[in-house]
Amino acid sequence: MKIPLNTLPGTELAAWLKSVGQPAYRSTQIFDWTYRKFADSPDEMKNLPADLKAELVKSFIFRQGRETRQEKAADGTNKLLLEFTDGACVECVIIPSVERFTFCLSSQIGCPVGCFFCASGTGGLVRNLDASEILDEFFVCCRKLGQLPDNIVFMGTGEPLMNYSNFMSALNIICGEKQVGMSPRRITVSTSGFVPGIMKFAKEGKPWNLAVSLHSPTDEGRARLIPDKHRYSIKEISDACRFYFNETGRIVTIEYTLVKGLNDSRDDALKLADIVSSCSAKVNLIPLNAVEKSGFSRPDRSKIAEFESTLTGKGVPVTVRIEKGDNINAACGQLRISHLKEDAQKNPGSENQEPGNL
Ligand code: SAH
Ligand code: SF4
Repeated sequence: MKIPLNTLPGTELAAWLKSVGQPAYRSTQIFDWTYRKFADSPDEMKNLPADLKAELVKSFIFRQGRETRQEKAADGTNKLLLEFTDGACVECVIIPSVERFTFCLSSQIGCPVGCFFCASGTGGLVRNLDASEILDEFFVCCRKLGQLPDNIVFMGTGEPLMNYSNFMSALNIICGEKQVGMSPRRITVSTSGFVPGIMKFAKEGKPWNLAVSLHSPTDEGRARLIPDKHRYSIKEISDACRFYFNETGRIVTIEYTLVKGLNDSRDDALKLADIVSSCSAKVNLIPLNAVEKSGFSRPDRSKIAEFESTLTGKGVPVTVRIEKGDNINAACGQLRISHLKEDAQKNPGSENQEPGNL
């Protein structure tokens, strides 16, 4: 059975090379093509002999995620939809800013949490991405950009800490010195507040950045945005954030999606300031990108500015997420959902492949 090359440990590649009568130094060349030159297939590995390329094709799987759609916004944001061999799709985004490029990657197909305002949760979890598929997202974006990104945020579809082992394998390859070699400090992992995952992640002993989606300073408020099934209490989440900070020394980011009339009052801001200060954290305000039929809307600009200045007034570090790619189904999961809808229109019945999606 063929296995993916991009997750193959060095020792296994060395053993395989020996078994096909190839010298050990070929391993460095193959990994260089895979991790540094983002090769899609052995055809591109120019310094390998033809017989080795043929053996590689026989034994390994190369790129599984194929770009099926691309949407570019006027500001340069480039959103890609990748289709895997089973037809499941996932989105990843290349986001340019003045001095850097950030990739926003997905960790699952669909999402088990199902926040009421989020397109990704529509239809629940379809399946986990395996480590090789998560890496495919990364490498497809690297190829498109022609270089490594400056930063990666796992803020696409899915709850990374609920796909823990696959996600960690991918992360360790992206940060592995013998593999891609990016610094963990350049990587941010966003969670809806999955406490067991945060605790485990803290114990990895690496300086990844953690972002936690709180969205409300009260448990009642959170219940209006996040279904019960995977929702933890604010007390448990803030304890976990403190633990993360103490274990890693990294300042946690509290993400707060601002929804009109639901979590945007002065009182909410004051309560949030207390929680955030108690965790030595900072806040990233995300004005809602309204998803069709969700019934939620974004507060107006003055309300957002007021919320921000209440937090600042209490000494809390705050950033407001700048809008990127607004004309391209920018909210998390929207491109995939619009693709599924088009598919269903062209091919009635196809939506059954992903239960309950539409
Ligand atoms: N599941 C993880 C990571 C993916 S979502 C999490 O929830 O943190 C990444 C961020 O995008 C979260 O903070 C989420 O609240 C936000 N988000 C999702 N849908 C959004 C929308 N329609 N508008 C604004 N932010 C949204
Ligand atoms: Fe899942 Fe995050 Fe979307 Fe909630 S916001 S449904 S946790 S992807």
